[in-house]
Amino acid sequence: MPASLLEAFLDHARHAPSRPLLSFEGTTFTRGQLAERVTAFARGLKARGLAPGERVALFLENSDAFVVTWLGVQAAGCVAVLVNTAYRQVELAHILSDAEVKVCVTGTSGASELAPLRDQLPALQWLITVEPPPPDLPASLPTVPFDTLLAQGSASHAPLPLPGAEDLAVLGYTSGTTGRSKGAMLQHRQLLANVRAVTEAWRWTDADRLLLTLPLFHTHGLMVGLHGTLFTGASVDLRRRFVASEALASLHGDASLTLFFGVPTMYGRLLEESRRTGVKPRALRLWVSGSAPLSPQLCLDIEGQLGARILERYGMTETLMNTTQPYDGERRPGTVGMPFPGQEARVVDVRSRAVLPRGETGEIEVRGPHVFTGYWRRPDATTEAFDADGWFRTGDLGEYDPDGFLRITGRARELIISGGFNVYPREVEEVLAGHPSVAEAAVLGLPDADFGEQVVAVIVSTPGAPQDAQALVDWCRERLAAFKKPRRVVFTDALPRNALGKVQKHVLRERLSSP
Ligand code: ATP
Ligand code: MG
Repeated sequence: MPASLLEAFLDHARHAPSRPLLSFEGTTFTRGQLAERVTAFARGLKARGLAPGERVALFLENSDAFVVTWLGVQAAGCVAVLVNTAYRQVELAHILSDAEVKVCVTGTSGASELAPLRDQLPALQWLITVEPPPPDLPASLPTVPFDTLLAQGSASHAPLPLPGAEDLAVLGYTSGTTGRSKGAMLQHRQLLANVRAVTEAWRWTDADRLLLTLPLFHTHGLMVGLHGTLFTGASVDLRRRFVASEALASLHGDASLTLFFGVPTMYGRLLEESRRTGVKPRALRLWVSGSAPLSPQLCLDIEGQLGARILERYGMTETLMNTTQPYDGERRPGTVGMPFPGQEARVVDVRSRAVLPRGETGEIEVRGPHVFTGYWRRPDATTEAFDADGWFRTGDLGEYDPDGFLRITGRARELIISGGFNVYPREVEEVLAGHPSVAEAAVLGLPDADFGEQVVAVIVSTPGAPQDAQALVDWCRERLAAFKKPRRVVFTDALPRNALGKVQKHVLRERLSSP
């Protein structure tokens, strides 16, 4: 029984080293080749003085080097810190200083982004570069080319004890949708427990091949896509990034593919591309969506145009994957199914914390071997997040259908309490989105002297449509209880979104609250 995903991968590599594992931009790596590089990377880190438990950041686009770095950091007993490649100086300074990162693996533009932060990051000692470094790096920030590190590591025979199940594997920084991102501490046993549950539920085997276009710095691409592949001994066609035309061409032409995972926006683009070109994908064994709500309409449109019955799952940085629609059985649009095997999920009242019966909306709590240990250096946030019995408060609102399918209805922090009534922003947003002049809608609560909070709608109009606030209020009044209709409607050109495309309501709130 392996103690870590790394160990499971190395076992596969020993057992059948010549099996192809990873294709990237025209090069295919076998299990054995990858394992050799992982070991060399780990020895290179050790040779340069990295000690177990020290943090190494990955500020990298998808590539074979990402995969080698991810596993190599773990093989050296170090802790990986994942950084979204869209992040710029403010987010980088926050994450790298919070985690006290010693070494950062990055490319040319990543190194340029880091250079001005040199003085704010005293713990950072050097960079490993997968591309030529920019010429203007400060001398106090030395670089080592990735290939040089591998060559150094290959020459070393230093022992590499495998990490234990209880060792910290990664600090996963949350996406910062609701505020500053926090580092979720995940141990090897948690990564392993979740990948075991996911692969069992989705019947993933070594015969599968995944088209992986999701970013590896995020849970969906890494802990589901890559880990599932490594754990089962399957193979993966990894892309630097998602390009709808290229993905569709592969899904149409490559008969070896059996799996595709995406976020709803990617499915939207595939749909557009297929409608535009008439190209349709082959039948895959499994299509998965997650990270953000997949609208039931998009789900049905995809089925009509692409012939794919998507399986939706629900997860988060802190807990990895929580629930999934069934592999066999009904995949009810608008729901995220049931807990993965060996895990629990329940819905509790937001105030009393009492467990709610099916059909009532409250906060989703989860428990099981997949749940993280706590937030890095944030004992306050950790205490707040768990109850005495070990249930983790996800911050998401949801309810179970009468027959046990979980439905996510929004974020607890975004719940509006107006005049003592609960207003769920997503419900109002969906009604607004149904109006022909509305391209996008975000609904939030702002302080109100009479009602406690008032419902405010921020609208992006469809091109050329009139900006008629009263018409939108009337539209809501006809369709919803009166206390849910917006008291204020604000028009804007675009909604603030984070790097994963999620709407940042705290940014809207600040904007609307400042005079
Ligand atoms: P932060 O915690 O920093 O505010 P975040 O919660 O967006 O950011 P992630 O951990 O990347 O950071 O995202 C997890 C969240 O994404 C979940 O809590 C949930 O709100 C949302 N999510 C994931 N899958 C789904 C899904 N299938 N349907 C609806 N929402 C989903
Ligand atoms: Mg979150």
